[in-house]
Amino acid sequence: AKKKGRNGFRFYRQEMLQQITDLAILEKALHGAIHNEEFYLVYQPQVNKLGELIGYEALLRWYHPELGFVSPARFIPVAEEIGLIYEIGRWVLENACRQLKVWQDMGLPSSFEGVAVNISPYQFAQEDFVSTVVAVIETTQVDPSLLDLEITEGMLVENIASVAEKMWRLKEYGIRFSVDDFGTGYSSLRYLQHFPLNQLKIDQTFIRDLSTDPNSHVIVNTIVSMAEHMNLSVLAEGVESLVEKQILERIDCTRYQGYYFSKPVKVDLATLYLKDNEVF
Ligand code: C2E
Ligand code: CA
Ligand code: CA
Ligand code: CA
Repeated sequence: AKKKGRNGFRFYRQEMLQQITDLAILEKALHGAIHNEEFYLVYQPQVNKLGELIGYEALLRWYHPELGFVSPARFIPVAEEIGLIYEIGRWVLENACRQLKVWQDMGLPSSFEGVAVNISPYQFAQEDFVSTVVAVIETTQVDPSLLDLEITEGMLVENIASVAEKMWRLKEYGIRFSVDDFGTGYSSLRYLQHFPLNQLKIDQTFIRDLSTDPNSHVIVNTIVSMAEHMNLSVLAEGVESLVEKQILERIDCTRYQGYYFSKPVKVDLATLYLKDNEVF
């Protein structure tokens, strides 16, 4: 950048302006997304070592007529910043529960434990989060024990008492909790015992490096044996190959999610998978 001198600077400035405009456009578009029905959910299968369906993770998709598909990794942080995450989060919860109720009424395979929904820390921190979830459960008539709320590791470090209190209240309804992207945060393992957790989801960065990086292997192995002692399930995210699945199976991690099994799919295909209890 030094050598480019003035041009480099101009380019940088232009790029900055471009980014600001992009963000403004994104924010504006995001405000209309629910009303214009631009959101939908896809479902990524979670399977056991036999390949049977044990759950789905609901993942949000946004198609805007002019912007096209925008990744949740891009727009969720923006929604959090401008306070739209509450409305969006509630939309996700409602729609996931409504769909879950349809599947519940259809009859679920015995291996199937339910649907996971991602909860933003901002959403969870809201005063009325518990009553919102309870209201959604009551209106949709979904079996709460089929609901798995994915929270982040960071949430288990701040405001421990109030976070734990909310979780215990929801647990009374039978709702389950998973810690998403486990291993990437800084949460002391000691903290985990304060919360009514059911599952740790090992972050995909560890799975990606599993076959090449001895450190990742050690980390995953440690998480698995620790979880066993704490009576927690462990699910490996981002499993992309048979080799990865085999390594995981060898260290007793028997719950998987990733492209090797299936990408996130639309509701129709997710329904077919459930009927056949098989991912194809
Ligand atoms: P996440 O919760 O960690 O979700 C997993 C992401 O990994 C998803 O990306 C999924 O499509 C992707 N993935 C699954 N299997 C594989 C694999 O084998 N390899 C690779 N490379 N990737 C895989 P997606 O759908 O783009 O979501 C990105 C992030 O956006 C999510 O990460 C989550 O943090 C956030 N997100 C998505 N939907 C929601 C939502 O409804 N609410 C909130 N608060 N956040 C959401
Ligand atoms: Ca997740
Ligand atoms: Ca994750
Ligand atoms: Ca990989």
